[in-house]
Amino acid sequence: MADETIVLNQLDEARLARQLKWDRRFLEIAQKVADWSKDPSTKVGTIIIDRNNRLVSTGYNGFPQGVLDLPERYNDRNAKYSMIIHSELNAIIFAKRDLRGYTLYSYPLQPCDRCAGPIIQTGIKRCVAPPCPPDKDTRWQKSFQVAQTMFKEAGVRLDLIELSPKYLGGISA
Ligand SMILES: [Zn+2]
Repeated sequence: MADETIVLNQLDEARLARQLKWDRRFLEIAQKVADWSKDPSTKVGTIIIDRNNRLVSTGYNGFPQGVLDLPERYNDRNAKYSMIIHSELNAIIFAKRDLRGYTLYSYPLQPCDRCAGPIIQTGIKRCVAPPCPPDKDTRWQKSFQVAQTMFKEAGVRLDLIELSPKYLGGISA
């Protein structure tokens, strides 16, 4: 009986290590996608993965198609926030399919309270992101906490995973 428990624990550890390897790979892809954003201050990338670890969608934060990427809009916080679509929502819109049971990866920020609702409604069952970077802590903390409460109540798992021991964030404000 004891031996069986040890074997099960080892299997569990191997499964977790494998999962962590995939999670970091996908976060690295989300990090690359984040670079495509034209927002000079916050670049966020999201990818969505199906149940077989296949990438089905990507998204980054930006204005809707055809809406001009004018620097003055990005530099005016109110104008920017009223027009911008977050990376998570863009990835959901571009996926154009049933996302039940899928996993969403976001880098370098976890989904906010505005995106948590649409994520929950698609049936996505797990979100993965790095822990909140220290420079984003104050502005986003409340939004992230609300999102975490929504995910918890709705049964969406949120895993906050470091991409690497050294923080690799590419954001400035
Ligand atoms: Zn959001």
